Amino acid sequence: MNVNTILNLKGRNVITAKPTDLVADLTKIFAENKIGSILIVEDGAVKGIVSERDVVRAIGHRGAEILRLPVSRIMTKDVITCQGDDTINQLMGVMTQGRFRHVPVIDQGQLVGIISIGDVVQQRIAETELEASAMRSYIATG
Ligand code: AMP
Repeated sequence: MNVNTILNLKGRNVITAKPTDLVADLTKIFAENKIGSILIVEDGAVKGIVSERDVVRAIGHRGAEILRLPVSRIMTKDVITCQGDDTINQLMGVMTQGRFRHVPVIDQGQLVGIISIGDVVQQRIAETELEASAMRSYIATG
């Protein structure tokens, strides 16, 4: 089981915005797409990532006027990425160590997907259920 296993199930669509888009625009994108993180891309290159937490923290620190500023003012610029052949365990380690819940997937320099902690948990539950069912049928058949 690796990152590609999850992408094959959930798809490879990544919702992005530009560094010049306003923070207020991002809040609409979060709401409309029911997502918690948006990748900031310019000329095909990943420039940063903004999660709901960044918006909430920025409002907490600087007030609601932050909504009228460009997202480049609040984005995290050092984006940690993973690759399709990374294992789920490696990915969980990256999320735990970095204390974030979203990791973009890069393949040969191209953005090919994004994995959230929800995707990882879903995959782990499916795996565990499969193992339990295999174990039950092994016991039943003697
Ligand atoms: P999250 O837990 O994903 O909502 O993000 C928590 C914090 O980590 C926010 O400041 C995000 O901008 C940042 N963040 C989220 N994903 C990444 C990532 N893949 N690489 C670096 N920072 C990230």
